[in-house]
Amino acid sequence: MASYDVIVVGCGGWGLAVLKVLTEMGLHVMGIEREDICHNLRQYMKRMVMHSRLSYMVLDPADAILAQKGDAHHPLIEELIQSYRDFAVKFDLPIKTHHELIDIEGSKNDFVLTVRNSAFPPVQHLKGAHASHGNRIVRLTAKRVVLATGSFDCPNLAGIPGELDEAVHHYFHEWEHIKDKNLLFIGGGFSAADGIIALCQRNTILWVVRKPIGVIEQILHDQKTSWGQADARLVNTEILANSQILSLEDSTAVIQTPHGQKTWDYDLCFMLIGHKPNEELCARLLHGNLAYDEETFESCERPGVYLVGALAKKHLEHIGLTDRLCPDNQGVRYIERIRYAMQQEFRGR
Ligand SMILES: Cc1cc2nc3c(=O)[nH]c(=O)nc-3n(C[C@H](O)[C@H](O)[C@H](O)COP(=O)(O)OP(=O)(O)OC[C@H]3O[C@@H](n4cnc5c(N)ncnc54)[C@H](O)[C@@H]3O)c2cc1C
Repeated sequence: MASYDVIVVGCGGWGLAVLKVLTEMGLHVMGIEREDICHNLRQYMKRMVMHSRLSYMVLDPADAILAQKGDAHHPLIEELIQSYRDFAVKFDLPIKTHHELIDIEGSKNDFVLTVRNSAFPPVQHLKGAHASHGNRIVRLTAKRVVLATGSFDCPNLAGIPGELDEAVHHYFHEWEHIKDKNLLFIGGGFSAADGIIALCQRNTILWVVRKPIGVIEQILHDQKTSWGQADARLVNTEILANSQILSLEDSTAVIQTPHGQKTWDYDLCFMLIGHKPNEELCARLLHGNLAYDEETFESCERPGVYLVGALAKKHLEHIGLTDRLCPDNQGVRYIERIRYAMQQEFRGR
């Protein structure tokens, strides 16, 4: 059984940053990622302009995109992924892709991780012509485990009838093919605003938000001025502020507005009210308790397991490995805390 000082689970931006730091310390480290690295980022809206400047998210201060486009550049999501890929390659980070953590047994110093390897060669079914990927279960041991699995696995729901219907989507990814449709957007956050701006030229949109109109106008204003989308224009879109959905059944939305009820027939609905970590996995590993020590990031529920990144923080936190570019970048402080905590844990090595 392969054995490590630390296994880092999840190779998004935070997993990669932690892997780099721990590798530099001379620890025997392995990153495992259920798909390809940055799998969650690949599910974001295609061609999305990131709200943060690249210098707040980039891991390598010598990054080529940063060097070429500069500090103030708001990268497309594809550029950010490319920058993380380059980082992993440049620093030769030890990563097993297509390895999904299923469970952790044991305790500090003697963890045994059960991992599903979906890259195992395809298995030919005895009946039928379809080949499917085999799922080989492997076991890895580690003294410490860092969980960097993000908070994108489970969409928030609102308990509305019809919200799980086929026409209701909780993620916004592929959009270029959508045209001549009646679209319903729910949620007053940046994801909805981004999606509407992308689709409003070629579709008719109703945007239902609980927030007051002033908040929505601010989001749209920010989109134009601060986030590099100067050309953003809202057309063919009606905004129902201070409103909430009562039902989404049978592709008809029933909406409570300040002026009474309204109905709207939609072809596609995007219900974008946020996401949360994988509840099943968190229940199995941590009894659903995501509390951690603020200084060390060590789980209160399970000593020896550390929570970092979006899993640890409900809200966005910028990431980085240097504050030369962005002195107010909180992510840099968090990575330093992890480094320090691990130095204490492996003192004398
Ligand atoms: C639409 C949207 C826009 C955003 N825009 C910005 C922005 O402009 N600026 C900003 O700073 N932040 C932004 N964020 C937030 C930012 O993307 C996240 O905070 C950040 O990606 C979190 O990084 P992470 O490494 O913690 O998690 P993730 O990037 O989510 O990575 C988690 C990784 O863990 C893997 N994983 C999960 N479960 C397992 C398992 N069981 N076994 C193995 N691997 C597993 C996943 O496949 C994934 O690769 C945005 C988020 C969203 C949703």
